[in-house]
Order: sequence, then structure tokens, then C-alpha cells
Amino acid sequence: MQAMVLEKVGEPLILKEIPIPSPQPHEVLIKVHACGVCRTDVHIVDGELPSPQLPLILGHQIVGDIYCLGTKVKKHKVGERAGVPWLGKSCHVCQYCQSDRENLCDEAIYTGYQQNGGYAQFCTAHEDFILKLSHDYDDLHTAPLLCAGLIGYRALKLIGNAQHIGFYGFGSSAHILIQVAKEQGRKIYVFTRPGDHQTQSFACHLGADWAGGSEQLPPESLDAAIIFAPLGALYIKALQAIKKGGKVISAGIHMSDIPSFPYALLWGERSISSVANLTRQDGIDFIDAIKSIKLQIAIKTYLLEDANQALTDIRNGNVCGSAVLKIE
Ligand SMILES: [Zn+2]
Ligand SMILES: [Zn+2]
Repeated sequence: MQAMVLEKVGEPLILKEIPIPSPQPHEVLIKVHACGVCRTDVHIVDGELPSPQLPLILGHQIVGDIYCLGTKVKKHKVGERAGVPWLGKSCHVCQYCQSDRENLCDEAIYTGYQQNGGYAQFCTAHEDFILKLSHDYDDLHTAPLLCAGLIGYRALKLIGNAQHIGFYGFGSSAHILIQVAKEQGRKIYVFTRPGDHQTQSFACHLGADWAGGSEQLPPESLDAAIIFAPLGALYIKALQAIKKGGKVISAGIHMSDIPSFPYALLWGERSISSVANLTRQDGIDFIDAIKSIKLQIAIKTYLLEDANQALTDIRNGNVCGSAVLKIE
């Protein structure tokens, strides 16, 4: 099969012809049709996340069909449509797995990081961690739901019933989440890079109640904020924009350092936090939450061999919506 392989951190992926993997007893082999490109993939290539398993096939927003089954697979059939997200496996026995927080599992294995992902014609996945997908969207438009949608949705769940919410950054995840949040009747205030009027009008087109640059304050105080861009300084911007008791949550796996700031910004029971990974239940809840919404998913499509270009475009902020590899 063809695959784009990361052999050395900091270097471009290499197009290679490698053997199709064999599924373990509890794994399935999936014929990949589309794989989303996530900012996390950029962080892995750039060496910002520790110890990826090299050589590595990136990609954790995989949509395909089950092509064959490991000897002990009971839950899936050949030909079934399948989605493979970031959480590839958890241990089931640690304190986190035992308390519905497998997203924090000490022994978790992540797709496209510690095991091969979907920048390839085939991949394997554990039967317990595959998402069953509806046919509401085609393969290319379904792929971004698997991380951008799902982990963003976990962030939305963690801010509870906040009504006035700031989104700092408006890329793959935020452009999907805004539609879910609007459906829930919330007001969304979008902050982009200063002067990025194109993204601001894209946000307004998708329902933003206000959009401006991250240097601005919103027209009214916010109940909560979600940070989608990997810039630690945005925590401070968001703390300045939220009310007492408000939460600021980052939805990203890696972020530049948060500069020091006066305690007065945190005073009044404001809090800062992060979202890590996802649970299988998040996936089920998210798919359920979007059932009644006709999402507009903006994608920029690349061929498998152009994966390096997709990563560069995300790194440089040149993708409006989500980048997706079309794989044949
Ligand atoms: Zn991701
Ligand atoms: Zn565990």
C-alpha cells in the first residue's frame, strides 16, 4: 500500500510503498477513503509532542470501510463504514479508565502517534475504539468530525451551560462547533488573528454573533471561552473577556507558554483548564448531538502524496475550515 511516513521528526513525510498491515485478533483492517489533517499532526512533525512511535503514519480522523476482521472480532462486519479517532486504545484498569475518564488513561495508545494512522491506503484499529458512522456526510466531510468535531465537542461539554462563549481561533474545530453551539441556542463571539477579516466573515456566515481580532474585547462579558489556537497568550485575552465564575478551556494538545499575569485576572472564581483527548462516550454523544443539524463542513482536499502541503497550510493558517486527504 501507499503511505506517507514520518521517519524523522522535523522532516517532511515520505511517500512509501509498504506492506498492508495484518490485524491483530481484536483489530480490523480498514480501507481508508479519507483522513483529516489535524493541527496535532503538525505538532508531532514539528517535534512539539514527546516520543512519537517512529517510523510513523500520521492521521487520526480516518473514514473508511472495514476490509477484513481479526480472528476474534465480534462487533463489526466486513464492509461496514468505520471511523477511527485519536483514542486508539485504553487500559480499562487504571483509576481514570475506572471512572469514565479513559481520555486520561495512563496507558492509552493514540492513533497516528503511538500506532499508525490514516495517511495510508489501509490501517488497523481495535474493534472497541471504532466509531460507527452514519451516511449523513460523504467521506471527505465526515473525516473532520472525528477529531475537530469530537474533541471540540468535549470542550463544549466541559463549559456546561455557559450562554455567551468566546471562541479564540476559528479553524477546523471551531467552524464545526459553532454550528453545534448555535443549535443549542448559545451566543458565540469569535476572535481571530488581528485583521483577519476573511475568517471573521466566515465565522459570521456560520452564525457568529460577533467576530473580531483577538486584541479586541467582545461587546459584552463572556460566561466562558474555548481556545482553539495554540497560543498561550490567548488565555490572558480570554480571562480579560470573561465574567466572574467563568471558565477558559483550551481544546488543543499543545500550546506555547502562558505568559505570567496578575492574579486579579483569575480572581472571582475564574478558572483555566484544558481538554485532553476524548472518551468513546464523547464520540457517541457528539454523533448524537449533530443528528438533527445539517452541518456545513468547509474542507480543503489534498491527495495522499500532498500531505506535506496540507501540514504546511495548517501550520501557516492557510486552511479555511478543515484539511482532508482523499485516499484511493
Ligand atoms: Zn486531532
Ligand atoms: Zn487506563
